[in-house]
Parts: sequence; C-alpha cells; structure tokens
Amino acid sequence: MYQKFQKHLQVELQNIEDAGLYKNERVIISPQGAAIRVSDGQEVLNFCANNYLGLSNSPKLKEAAKSAIDSHGYGMSSVRFICGTQDLHKKLEAAVAKFFKTEDAILYASCFDANTGLFETLLTAEDAILSDTLNHASIIDGVRLCKAQRYRYANADMQDLEEQLKKAQAQRFRLIVTDGVFSMDGNVAPLDKIYELANKYDAMIMVDESHSAGVVGNTGRGVTELFDLKGKIEIITGTLGKAFGGAIGGFTTGKQEIIDMLRQRSRPYLFSNSIPPMVAAAGVKMFEMMDETNELQDKLHENTKYFIKKMKVAGFDIKPTESAICAVMLYDAKLSQEVADRLLDEGIYVIGFYYPVVPKGEARIRVQISAAHDKEQLDKCVTAFIKVGKELEVIK
Ligand SMILES: *Cc1c(COP(=O)(O)O)cnc(C)c1O
Repeated sequence: MYQKFQKHLQVELQNIEDAGLYKNERVIISPQGAAIRVSDGQEVLNFCANNYLGLSNSPKLKEAAKSAIDSHGYGMSSVRFICGTQDLHKKLEAAVAKFFKTEDAILYASCFDANTGLFETLLTAEDAILSDTLNHASIIDGVRLCKAQRYRYANADMQDLEEQLKKAQAQRFRLIVTDGVFSMDGNVAPLDKIYELANKYDAMIMVDESHSAGVVGNTGRGVTELFDLKGKIEIITGTLGKAFGGAIGGFTTGKQEIIDMLRQRSRPYLFSNSIPPMVAAAGVKMFEMMDETNELQDKLHENTKYFIKKMKVAGFDIKPTESAICAVMLYDAKLSQEVADRLLDEGIYVIGFYYPVVPKGEARIRVQISAAHDKEQLDKCVTAFIKVGKELEVIK
C-alpha cells in the first residue's frame, strides 16, 4: 500500500512547492527576542513573533519556571480530573479570571484546544453559531465539530451579522463568535456593535483574545477593555503562547456555569494532559506582573505608534490597525517575497503573506511590534524598509 500512497504524497508535495506555498522553517539558535541568531550565525532583528510584551525570554518568568521544576516537578503524567491538578493550575485559573474580570477560567494545552473543545460541549443541533469569516482556524475546526446551525458573516460586517441574526431566530440559543484582533490586518472586532446586536437579537458572545490579550486596551485586557465590556461577554478564549510569555497553554474564561460545564464535558480538557507545572507557575508570575504595572503595554503602544507613523511618513501603505500588527501593503505576491528576502539581507526578519493566506491581490508584509524593541531597533527596521522599498520601487 505505502508505495502508492508515497507516490500520491510526493505529487501533492510537489504541487505545494510549485505553487510557491511550501513552508520552510528558519532555524533560530538563540532565545526568542527582539534580536535573534539564526542557524548560519547571522543576527537579525525579529519583527514576526507574537512576543508582543517581550516576555518570551523574561528573567522573572524563567526564574518562576525553574523554581517550579524544583518545587512541583517536571510533568503531570495525567489529565486534570484524574491526578493532574496542582495548586499551581488552580492559581493560574484564578489569575486568568481576575485579569479579565470574569467569573472563572479553565486551562487547556493550547487555545487551539480551548476552541475545539468549546462549541460542541455547549451547543446542539437546536442552536446557532454566527461566525466571522476571518476567524482563526481553531474556531473554524471547533465549529465544525459542533452540530449547531452555522451562519457566517463577512469580516466585522455588522449589517451582515444583523441579517444572519434575523435568520437565526428560529434556533434555541445563538452564539456570536469572533476573534478579538484579526491576525492578517490587525483590525479589532467591533465588539460594542456586536454587543448591541447580541442584546437586540437575543444572542451570546464568544471572543478569542489570542492576539488582543496583553496588547489591546489601555492595560492590555483586550477588546473587552477597549469597548468597556469587561465582565459582560459570556465566553473569552485566549493563549499563553503569544503576549503572555509565549510558552504554551490556552484558556477559556467567562460565566461560571459555562466553565463548570467545560470541566465536565470538554474533550480536549478531559482527554489531554495537564500543562506542566513550570508553565503554570510562570503564568501565575506573569499575571502578577500584569497586576503590578502597565509598563510593558505602554511601551508596546508607544512603539507601535512610533513605527507606524515613521512608515507612513516614508510613504508606505499601512492597513488601519488597532493592535501591534502592522500590515505593510504590497499587493503583489512575488513582490512581497522579494521585499521580505531583501529585508532579511538587511538584518530584518519579517514574513510576506499572500494568497491564500490573505485575499488575492492583497499581498503584504506583516510586521509585529514588541515591547522588547527599542527605538534604535525600530529605526533600523524603518531604514531598511525605506532602502528596500526604494530599490524595488515600492516607494519614491
Ligand atoms: C494563535 C491563535 C490561536 C492558537 O493559540 P495556541 O495557544 O497557539 O493554540 C487561537 N486563536 C487565535 C485567534 C490565535 O491567534
């Protein structure tokens, strides 16, 4: 059998490569940070990590993780409900709920798991899910696993959402589902308007704050802070793998009964291992740091404003953004790859995105700003963009 299958895979792989879509992984030999060393020894400035608060190599978090290895061991060898719950897991869940001003929280191995374990646990064929077309893959997969009636609305399009809500009135319960920040443009979901529509058409809301938690809102509490809706959204999911230290782990937080039911029935929670003690301990420490000061959020917001302003002055076409994601529009797929390659020669590591990751003719470089960047590094990035932009006639 395998010979035939092998042939089939070889053809498929070749197709991926011929379409220019083959993903090669660049090997990094230093910790994650504003400056990283790649395997050929070159040091480059990193503008494509989700390391928004610069915590991926935080001395305080590393110390918390190390000391938890000594006090609580390396791994749990169990799921939560058998013998995989330590005081650290309970503390971290309490910290998540406190951060978002919600009633309770439940941990998962990832936000991908949080999303795939959410919908089918709560809703049935009698219910309706209204989902933004640009929602993350894990939401799409989670919705697929659920038998609820599906309604899709165009990205952040409130007229379309309203129409879908009207159609969904026949169902028992309605849940509107959206990313907080959409990862390709950096735009936020209009949660104020979604909240109004949810009230008008009797629906609940789920927001995935993966790209917004730690980033959006004055104190980084996410889109629920930006729109002054803390504590009012039924379900929030998020990751510990981006702004919050970048290791691994996800969570769902919100109304008490929802979290209680997930603990009883959510499959990735029931049938997948507990997060390691060191990750839980560092997570607790991270939320303590968030409680003490907004320094990192302030720095991130300042950096983002600074960078975007300089890029606009230089003549680049930047998508409107309310996050730390800055899409530098180039429109042409090949050009986006050339610009990214040339920037790497200049010591700037960014990624060009093109169809099918973004719509046809909307190729771009996605720059992700971090609180770890200093002014000099931001300037170096802008200077490199200007140099390459002029060479390739993107700007004058
Ligand atoms: C990154 C991301 C996830 C996945 O988070 P992991 O913890 O890495 O699984 C889920 N949803 C959204 C919106 C994301 O951006």
